[in-house]
Amino acid sequence: MFKNPKYVYGNCECRVLATLHFGEEILKRIRAHQDNVALINGATDETLTYASMAQEAINLAVSLKHLNVRKGDVIAICSENRREFWSTVIGIFCTGAVVTAINTTYSKDEMKHVLGISKPKYIFCSPSTYKQHSKSFKSIEKIIIYGDERFSNTIAYNDLAVANVKNKVLRENVKYDDFMCVDVNGQTDVGVILYSSGTTGLPKGVMLTHLNVLAACTPMDGGFVTKSLAIAPWYHSMGLISTMRQYFMGSTIVYLPKFEVELYLKTIETYKILSLAVSPPVLVAISKFKSKYDLSSVATIHCGAAPLYEETANAATQIFPNLQGLFQGYGLTETTLALTFSYNSEKSGSVGGVVDNAILKIVNPETKEVLGPNQEGEIYAKGVSVMKGYIGRDRKLDFDDEGFFRTGDVGYYDEDRYFYIVDRLKELIKYKGYQVPPAEIEAVLLKHSGIRDAGVIGVRDLLAGELPLAFVALQPGVQLTEKEIQDYVAERLSNPKHLRGGVRFLPEIPKNPSGKILRKELRKLVKSPKSKI
Ligand code: AMP
Repeated sequence: MFKNPKYVYGNCECRVLATLHFGEEILKRIRAHQDNVALINGATDETLTYASMAQEAINLAVSLKHLNVRKGDVIAICSENRREFWSTVIGIFCTGAVVTAINTTYSKDEMKHVLGISKPKYIFCSPSTYKQHSKSFKSIEKIIIYGDERFSNTIAYNDLAVANVKNKVLRENVKYDDFMCVDVNGQTDVGVILYSSGTTGLPKGVMLTHLNVLAACTPMDGGFVTKSLAIAPWYHSMGLISTMRQYFMGSTIVYLPKFEVELYLKTIETYKILSLAVSPPVLVAISKFKSKYDLSSVATIHCGAAPLYEETANAATQIFPNLQGLFQGYGLTETTLALTFSYNSEKSGSVGGVVDNAILKIVNPETKEVLGPNQEGEIYAKGVSVMKGYIGRDRKLDFDDEGFFRTGDVGYYDEDRYFYIVDRLKELIKYKGYQVPPAEIEAVLLKHSGIRDAGVIGVRDLLAGELPLAFVALQPGVQLTEKEIQDYVAERLSNPKHLRGGVRFLPEIPKNPSGKILRKELRKLVKSPKSKI
């Protein structure tokens, strides 16, 4: 009956939405923005209006229905950022099916792992991702390819449902007034599956409900319309959810297929970009580049996915002469978007206060006692944006008896209820904002016939945030070099998981009696000089 004085509560005011259907809500909102420009490809100048995006989405939803897509089916998208991505996402939502966005840079084994979790019925992909992963997609019933290239046994997106592509209406448009989304129960039905390793082990399927996504995309203060430059891949929660949040407000998103410093800065000048959404490594890369471009249009920067160090924040204020706001969010894939949000680094090193409709508490990891201000412990979170759970995993493993989710992050709040992240209890490494689960690299290392045991940790790096470093114990009589092991991993795992932090050789990997790797012990060894083996 009483608020817990040690919990930190966000503002819980809420406008009741007539619908908890994310597809219905986003469709209504993007239609209202009509002929405003929703998307610009910064590399080609190709634009898409909100009206076209909405039309394309409902055409696609009807086509998917004809192709036998039913409520609850999982439909995957594996594509670099491109125009068709959003009509696909919104179209899938409208059918009551579940969207899963897949990292395009996955290796064969990583792809097999995530497809095994979400088991998509159909997949949408770009020609380049299809060429790269076609063998992994063999078990998927239908493959739909963006663009004009044709491949055997696949369906071309342009033959499906796209209106006004290059001024050619390819099939009759579905009338909005005749269209209705397939009903869902927004509170419990899953709308999105993303992937995260959570506190331990291999990547798992994060189930986000329609309500989770709706809550994360609906700013209580109404938000503001902007022209934003997007660089985060749309398969990551930050790219996917924060872009849809911008669509809710009617902003224009300029996107680039990949991050390349000079093109990025040039695009800011060309399009007079007002706001940037970045992970800290992007800011670091910009600060190290001598810009000849006019960056005076940039007024706000939203930063997330990894710690923003003070030196990086200071550098950003030097580069962008008219910067008014440098915002930092702290959140997880499992919480859809941010749990805390800081405006203009009100307090140095803080990730800000709790967002609307969330409750955070700090828990002593050993005793489970709830802690008060200025006491460090594990951050637990509850709220409308916290996931339903991981696919096929007992909720009890990740949520406590009160329904709070264990983030695996260590932090505290001060007397003004501002939060600070100080460490991670969980194994996760973050390279340039990308998840690198040590267990995944360790599993690959253990498959090597010359490696007896392995333990992977992250080492701090100013440019990337953290770099994965492996400790390995070799089989008796085996000789392997650091380079041979780095190459072995690089052939099997995607780029962020490469052993850029190096390889160290040990006679034994330190473990506790139940066989758990003592990563703290490994971290201590990083400070000691490299072994000569
Ligand atoms: P992901 O699920 O890939 O978004 O990764 C979530 C993890 O990234 C969190 O559990 C944190 O460890 C880390 N993280 C995200 N945002 C921040 C931040 N602002 N400061 C520090 N760590 C962060």
